[in-house]
Amino acid sequence: MGSHRIAVMPGDGIGKETIREAMKVLRAAERNAKGAFKLETTELDWNSDYFVKHGRMMPEDGIQVLRGYDAILFGAVGDARVPEHVSVAQTILAMRRGLDQWANIRPARLLAGAPCPLKDKQPGQIDFVVVRENTEGEYADVGGNLFAGTPNEVAVQSAVFTRRGTERILRYGFELCRKRKKQGVGRGKLTSVSKQNAQRHSQVFWHKVFEEVRKDYPDIESGFLYIDAACMDLVRKPEAFDVIVSSNLFGDILTDVAGVVVGGLGIAPSANLNPDKAAPSMFEPVHGSAPDIAGKNLANPLAAVMAGAMMLDFLGEDAAARTMSKAVESVLADPKAPKTKDFGGNASTSEVGDEIAARLG
Ligand code: ATP
Repeated sequence: MGSHRIAVMPGDGIGKETIREAMKVLRAAERNAKGAFKLETTELDWNSDYFVKHGRMMPEDGIQVLRGYDAILFGAVGDARVPEHVSVAQTILAMRRGLDQWANIRPARLLAGAPCPLKDKQPGQIDFVVVRENTEGEYADVGGNLFAGTPNEVAVQSAVFTRRGTERILRYGFELCRKRKKQGVGRGKLTSVSKQNAQRHSQVFWHKVFEEVRKDYPDIESGFLYIDAACMDLVRKPEAFDVIVSSNLFGDILTDVAGVVVGGLGIAPSANLNPDKAAPSMFEPVHGSAPDIAGKNLANPLAAVMAGAMMLDFLGEDAAARTMSKAVESVLADPKAPKTKDFGGNASTSEVGDEIAARLG
């Protein structure tokens, strides 16, 4: 029996509520697998309350502590008492960089019952994955300010693109595309999203590496789109995509558009992978702490539950991950099943979690 050590970090706001449901469903999946695997969980209270008490979002050796786990299930951070760039930098960005979680994976699949803002799109018609570089690019912490508070104030932020970072994310995208094609999910089509017509250093470099790497994958149909054109096409014809690979900032933009096209934040999960398995990967719903609905048991837990399923899959429990996703899909597709308000229902967060768990037996 495989045993997996999981660090559970619910964080702030609705993160606490949606991760509670994700854990409920993960426990049901564990029971459903009848001893095939075991989840040994530790809940970590590293959030904004912790910041108020200790002046930081996680202990000084937090990243070291996390290295002792096989995976991290993370909710969200965000609280009026902590500047957002501080809470995000000290948790999400610290984990991504400190644990070299260089591949951010966000699947976008239109499921029956999910609200799609585009007309005439059928369930199953939209099914693609955005692979976003997660540790460098435009989010590299390189820059500074001069003459703060004066009319001559200057801010400089540099993007960092390394050959290692660029090549490994593009290769990951091609490998994923190949895997999806083999599984009969995708069509073996990869789109590199860039902006080499306007950014003649970093993006020309990205595109050059793409042109090199694609030669190793003649079985994959590959091409590129500029970021602006890619955003338009995600709205106009999302069914045209299979695997998209892009830099950190462009990936951030693309995944928000992709998320909304298949039902919004209520159902968008993501994985921050260390594909080399040299450190734990982190799984999270895309949504933030949502202070407007926090503490009211109103948040949609599906994104956190799907993030839990991605975690099981990465841990090698792919059969359990599939069973968990199927349970979510059956609740979504059932007009009588409880749904939260964002999905047109009036059920609570915990009612939806209970229903998915019940369907796992
Ligand atoms: P943060 O500052 O932590 O990012 P935010 O409110 O700026 O929080 P989100 O938390 O992503 O950003 O929320 C954006 C909007 O989407 C809010 O109106 C929120 O209520 C809604 N929302 C986000 N997640 C969910 C969810 N799981 N279920 C229902 N509504 C959600």
